[in-house]
Amino acid sequence: MVKAIVAGAAGRMGTRIIHNILDTPGIELVAAFERPDSPAVGKDVGEVIGLPNLGIPIEDSLEKVIDKGDVIIDFTFHEASLANARINAKYGKAMVIGTTGFSKEELEEIHELARQHFPLVQAYNMSLGINLLYKLVELATQVLGEDFDIEIVEAHHRMKKDAPSGTAIALANVIARTLGWDESTFRFCREGIIGERPKKEIGIQTIRAGEIVGEHTVYFAGTGERIELTHRAASRDTFARGAVKAALWVVGKSPGVYDMHDVLGLK
Ligand code: NAD
Repeated sequence: MVKAIVAGAAGRMGTRIIHNILDTPGIELVAAFERPDSPAVGKDVGEVIGLPNLGIPIEDSLEKVIDKGDVIIDFTFHEASLANARINAKYGKAMVIGTTGFSKEELEEIHELARQHFPLVQAYNMSLGINLLYKLVELATQVLGEDFDIEIVEAHHRMKKDAPSGTAIALANVIARTLGWDESTFRFCREGIIGERPKKEIGIQTIRAGEIVGEHTVYFAGTGERIELTHRAASRDTFARGAVKAALWVVGKSPGVYDMHDVLGLK
C-alpha cells in the first residue's frame, strides 16, 4: 500500500486529490498539510473536504509529516513546491508536483534536487487528454509548422494565479522543440498596432473568466485552411486521477525527473 502525503490539502486540487486517493485501491492517505496561516490547519481532513472524520489532522508543514509517507503530492504554489522539494532532498521520498507558475530558475533547482535525491513526476497538466494533445500537436507541427501560423489560446477560472497557463507554455515548448526554435519566439499577448505577424512566432493568449476548469486550443492557420486542436477539462478530477496514477507509478523509481508520458506509457 503506497502511503501518500498531500500538500495544499484544502485547495481546489488538493481536495480532489484526497477524494481520488480515498477511491483508489493500492494507495492510502497518511497525512496532509497546508500553509501555516491556512484556516484548515488543525482541522480533520474529512471536515475540510466534506466527508466524515478521517482521523487525520491537517498539519502546518511538510517536516511534521514527511516520515509517515512514501510519496508527497504537491499542487500548491511555486515557492511552496520549491521549499517542499528542498526539504524532501534530505529524505528522498517520491514526489509528484503539479504546481505551475515556476520561474526557469525555480524549476531548474527542483529538477536538479530530484536528479540527485528523489524520483519526481513533474507536469503542468496531469490529464490523459492533454498528454495526448502534446503528441497530436507535435505531429501537426511536423507537417504544417514551416508554412502555417501557430497560436495558442488558453482559458481558466478567475482565481488562477499564473498566466499564461503552464500547459500553454508546455504546448509552446513542444512546438518550438519540433521546429528547432527557442523560447524567444513565444509571445504572451498582443496589443496595439503590431503590423504584419512575424513568421517565426508562437502567440499565447489568455482568458480568465468564471469557473472555467481549463481549456487549450492550438491554431494551425494556413492559406485557405485552418486546423484547431482543442482540449477541454470539464472537472478537476481528470488532473487528480492523473496525479494519483503518477504517485502510484513513481514510488520505488530511481532519483530523476519523469513526466506524464512516462507514467502513461506514451513514450
Ligand atoms: P488553490 O489556491 O485552490 O490551492 C492551493 C493550496 O495550496 C491552497 O489551499 C494553499 O493554502 C496551499 N498552500 C500554499 N502554500 C502552501 C505551503 N507552503 N504549504 C502547504 N500548502 C500551501 O489552487 P489550485 O487551483 O488547487 O491549484 C494549485 C496549483 O496546481 C496551481 O499552481 C495550479 O496551476 C496547478 N494545477 C495543476 C494541474 C496539473 O494537472 N498539473 C491542474 C490544475 C491546477
